[in-house]
Amino acid sequence: MDQRSLSAIGNAYSDEILFAAGIHPKTLCSQLAGSDIERLYNSIKEVIAWGITEVAKAAEPVEVKVRSHLKVRNRKGRACIICGTTIRRVGVLGYDAFFCPRCQPHYWEHFINWK
Ligand SMILES: [Zn+2]
Repeated sequence: MDQRSLSAIGNAYSDEILFAAGIHPKTLCSQLAGSDIERLYNSIKEVIAWGITEVAKAAEPVEVKVRSHLKVRNRKGRACIICGTTIRRVGVLGYDAFFCPRCQPHYWEHFINWK
């Protein structure tokens, strides 16, 4: 979500990419292990390709934001499609990020766990 580290990916797809990679949205780039970076890289390619396919299938006018296929974005309070845990929202760099706390665990104590 930090455009200084990687730009041109919007917040909705940032959420989906991090969900696919199993990375918590509050994870700093410096905290990513080599295996995390590899999963993140692969997830960027896979999720963007999936998004393009889903938007094309929806066949909506170009000005319509197709979002019905997204798995975590704007799904706060709903069940994760993988594990059933409640999707949560957290602020990251002034933006909302949606994530599954079970599929995307955080390993660093730098935010309050409100449960
Ligand atoms: Zn989950």
